[in-house]
Amino acid sequence: MLPFLSDPAFCLNKPHGLMNHHPAFIVFTDLDGTLLDHDDYSWAPARDALARLRDLAIPLIAVSSKTLAELHALNDRDSLFDGLIGENGGVIALGNIVMQPGPATATIDQARNAISQALDIPVAGFRTSTPHQIATTTGLDLTSAALAGQRHCSDPLIWQPSEYHIQTAIDIARQHGLQLVRGGRFHTLCGTTDKALAMQIVLTHLKDKGRLTANDGPVSVIALGDSPNDASMLRAADIAVQIPPKRGMPPILDLGGKPAFLAPHPGPQGWNHMIHHILDHQISDITAR
Ligand SMILES: [Mg+2]
Repeated sequence: MLPFLSDPAFCLNKPHGLMNHHPAFIVFTDLDGTLLDHDDYSWAPARDALARLRDLAIPLIAVSSKTLAELHALNDRDSLFDGLIGENGGVIALGNIVMQPGPATATIDQARNAISQALDIPVAGFRTSTPHQIATTTGLDLTSAALAGQRHCSDPLIWQPSEYHIQTAIDIARQHGLQLVRGGRFHTLCGTTDKALAMQIVLTHLKDKGRLTANDGPVSVIALGDSPNDASMLRAADIAVQIPPKRGMPPILDLGGKPAFLAPHPGPQGWNHMIHHILDHQISDITAR
């Protein structure tokens, strides 16, 4: 674990070394396809930039659709992050503090049960399935499947629905204040929280704790992402970086007219390049360029 969370005396305005000459930054990053390679999930090509952030005591926050259990497992192994935002902004872990801006877990369960009772087909969720069942459905190994099943505020459904079933489930989700989001492989019951809201909650929490006070100016928020569900986070950042895909054209993200860097390489290679570029040029606000 980095000193940022484990040492309560740590403060961003009292870092060591070069940081005294730098404006303070904080970095929020998507994982899959952004810091992690799309195919092999490696962050190794970003090793240099990660080490530079650590040397400068710049906090790094993961923002992902993964569960907190999955993020903790990654961080326990690699010690990359100072904070974790999981389930697309629905749940946050800062040290021992867990916050859940997403819907209550009981609401997710009530909605899934109501859908199951209303439909004439079997309906399960990751939350109610065994690791073996999740592994069979997803192709994950058993350990990964167990981590993917530990969900706070969203639940991918395991079912074989018709369009009628989907529409009925969407209506029931809405009655519970939830939505049913159609992903690549699953329909997921979830709330309306997004990554930007979770980012603001983390920033407010850290400011309240006195941990985001720069020596000579405001703290600049850097956000990096690769897909439409990162757009709100990039829009809310001071410095937005879009990471292109390994194959095909970069998606057009709705950034509300906000300018953003497009990294020259996909995945962790692009991540590495852009963090160095931003720190080399002391860019504090892309809109001022
Ligand atoms: Mg991604």
